[in-house]
Amino acid sequence: MENGGETKEWRFKGNQTLTTASGFTVRGVLNMLMENLNPDDQRQVLRLGHGDPSSFPCFYTSPAAEDAIVDALRSRQFNCYSSTVGILPARKAVAEYLSRHLPYTLTPDDVFLTIGCTHAIEVALSVLTYPGANILLPCPGFPYYEAFSAYIGLQHRHFSLLPEKGWEVDLDAVEALADENTVAMVLINPGNPCGNVFTYKHLQKVAETAKKLGILVIADEVYEHLTFGKNPFVPMGAFGNITPIITLGSISKRWIVPGWRLGWLVTTDNQGILQKSGLVESIKSFLNISSDPATFIQGALPQIIEKTNEDFFSKIINTLCLDANLCYEKLKEIPCITCPSKPEGSMFVMAKLDLSLLRDIQDDLDFCLKLAKEENMAILPGVAVGMKNWLRITFALEPLALEEGLERLKAFCQRHGD
Ligand SMILES: *Cc1c(COP(=O)(O)O)cnc(C)c1O
Repeated sequence: MENGGETKEWRFKGNQTLTTASGFTVRGVLNMLMENLNPDDQRQVLRLGHGDPSSFPCFYTSPAAEDAIVDALRSRQFNCYSSTVGILPARKAVAEYLSRHLPYTLTPDDVFLTIGCTHAIEVALSVLTYPGANILLPCPGFPYYEAFSAYIGLQHRHFSLLPEKGWEVDLDAVEALADENTVAMVLINPGNPCGNVFTYKHLQKVAETAKKLGILVIADEVYEHLTFGKNPFVPMGAFGNITPIITLGSISKRWIVPGWRLGWLVTTDNQGILQKSGLVESIKSFLNISSDPATFIQGALPQIIEKTNEDFFSKIINTLCLDANLCYEKLKEIPCITCPSKPEGSMFVMAKLDLSLLRDIQDDLDFCLKLAKEENMAILPGVAVGMKNWLRITFALEPLALEEGLERLKAFCQRHGD
């Protein structure tokens, strides 16, 4: 047995559930497009595929937020482990911040800090799962929900967002899909991928439907306050008196620091239903067996929230608004692409491809692969967010780069047109 002898058979292999779950994520598809770029193309690579504008100077985060991080780091108070639910001053800051737009006051006990909104999604889905349970997800949507549900064995069903109704939820479909094993529905507002912002009235109807069905609403509000159209942002938590709500958020999008990895899961539970159901206990248990956001980032949070001034937010909103208009107007010049409505929030718009006007394009994926190769740019094929032969276009770029991207898109469509 000098070398340990012969191994008959290795006992380990990669987890197959993961391969299946991660099959069609945004990151997976974008990586594939990036591999398709033409290395000889000297032009700048334009990324209209993902929502991370942090590298453009006009989207740099606020200096106040940077100072907050430096101060927290230098204070040496945050070199320690965090408590599993997050440190108290940071939870207090989030409770106060979100309470500004709610008809009542959240307490730090309602707030759980997470490693970005992504981790908050993982917590929310994990605590709801039991064998046979299912969750209702929007289509089009944010594929991380599908991927993580698949990974933990939570079944999912899709309800539509209706393009002809400004991407409102098909509430009849929600009622038809729900059964005795349905635990929750997910709502993303402002919308990714549709760029829509739900009205107060519609959100109220969603809350009433959820109450009727006895299911939880998981409100993904990672784009909170990034609105620039007729509808103001209304937090779903405002309807916590109708039905219990779990709100997910982070500083990734509003402060444009997705790399800082700080998010939250917040319960609005005026009637104590989540508490009674054991869900709050379950959240704490889950956080006991998962990791925490870096303590110094948590330590900086009170100052990030307090010191970032309105000028920063309005400058970002103005740029996004300019971008959204530019995108909508430029797309009108391209016959084979139509937007059902002008984006009013978030960083994205959904646009429909008319393949009959294109000579040699099979579908949305083929369109995006050829576009990457010929024009050195990325756009997400709709199939990645649940809508085949649509495109999800990110307009959150430096406006000149966006304009250039839309010009290339137009040239590509002309070249492949009939
Ligand atoms: C970006 C995004 C997230 C993830 O946010 P992080 O804070 O970066 O983890 C979650 N949900 C939606 C809809 C997003 O667009």
